[in-house]
Amino acid sequence: MKRKMTIPQSKEAIRRQRDLILSATGDGIYGIDMNGKTMFVNPAAAKMSGFADEEMLGFSQHELMHHTYSDGRPYPVHECPIYAAFKDGKVHRCANEVFWRKDGTSFPVEYVSTPILDDGKLVGAVVSFRDISERVAAEKALEQSKQRERDLQSDLRHASRLSVMGEVSSAMAHELNQPLTAVINYVQAAGRLMESEDQFTKDKALGYMGKAVEQASRAGAIIRGLRQYVEKEDADRSFECINTIIEEAVALILPGGSDTGIGFETALEENLPSILVDKIRLQQVIVNLVRNALEALQETKNALLVISTKLVTGDMIEVRVSDNGPGLPKALKGKLFQSFVTNKSKGMGVGLSICRTIIEEHEGKISAQENVDGGVTFCFTLPTLPPVLEA
Ligand code: ADP
Repeated sequence: MKRKMTIPQSKEAIRRQRDLILSATGDGIYGIDMNGKTMFVNPAAAKMSGFADEEMLGFSQHELMHHTYSDGRPYPVHECPIYAAFKDGKVHRCANEVFWRKDGTSFPVEYVSTPILDDGKLVGAVVSFRDISERVAAEKALEQSKQRERDLQSDLRHASRLSVMGEVSSAMAHELNQPLTAVINYVQAAGRLMESEDQFTKDKALGYMGKAVEQASRAGAIIRGLRQYVEKEDADRSFECINTIIEEAVALILPGGSDTGIGFETALEENLPSILVDKIRLQQVIVNLVRNALEALQETKNALLVISTKLVTGDMIEVRVSDNGPGLPKALKGKLFQSFVTNKSKGMGVGLSICRTIIEEHEGKISAQENVDGGVTFCFTLPTLPPVLEA
């Protein structure tokens, strides 16, 4: 039987082999004795720190390279994990500290401190470390890009909240302007009439006060409706007769006795089925369409506004608001129902877009067409309830 023989190496050969290994590695390696003094150091450690071998051998590595935290605070040696290896005989690792170069600059390091045992007795520690500047820079860049991304998302959320709020506020401003102006007018007129001694005039003033209360209540109802819209609650719906909704809305915008000089007619089909609607929001539609027609008819001779209702195709009610005014401005064709489209100096251009939103909420459709003999007809549909099946 053959036996493999091991030829004992000389101490010199062993040291040479150890130096070769220490020189070959890219990691910095140094050994310290129990007093923290450097026993050996490899070329990579010298290269990374900028200290020559002789500037390190016999000196405290902590005082040379590890004396200060990255934020500039002094680093007491008793807090250092490298020296903890002496006390507990365990391996200590760290990846969030810096080592200092001879020229006073620092670099982030990852190091491992391993206790050296000689015959079971602790004699020092060997520390291997590497410069992790590139990794830290890459991590920082990644964190920054995640932050740039987070900022962008929050900007987008903010922008979309702002745009919703913008739409809601402009809708509010638009809808509230009319009843509030009416309230002011009625109260001012009533105030003037109250100065009179005569009972008939005083009764008239009381009538105006009642109208003011109606308009203020309407403004309140509009605010509540818009709040529900923002809070996405189901709007209040009830069974209503479309003809009554129209009559009430017209009474608000064309109060009896006010002489606009504009002819007004209705052609409301009788016995229309009740429909499940949000009455206040539908009144907003009628008020917007009638107000637009009145504004368009200001300069028209024999101006006429007609509102009609009828049942079409059995399950749809059609409402038409028609005028014989100047017709639609060419520039607005095709974008009439978009927000902020207006040809009026004080217009907000949101009335028709609100109308479309409301009608579509009720599963209906709204459109505008020019009349053959002049003027415009706005037409919207509303579905009636599906017929109840008899048993
Ligand atoms: P605003 O009344 O604030 O301008 P709208 O959305 O209600 O906003 O109307 C948009 C535009 O549509 C008006 O500026 C007007 O030019 C046009 N328009 C609406 N109704 C009529 C109408 N009956 N006749 C002529 N033009 C109309």
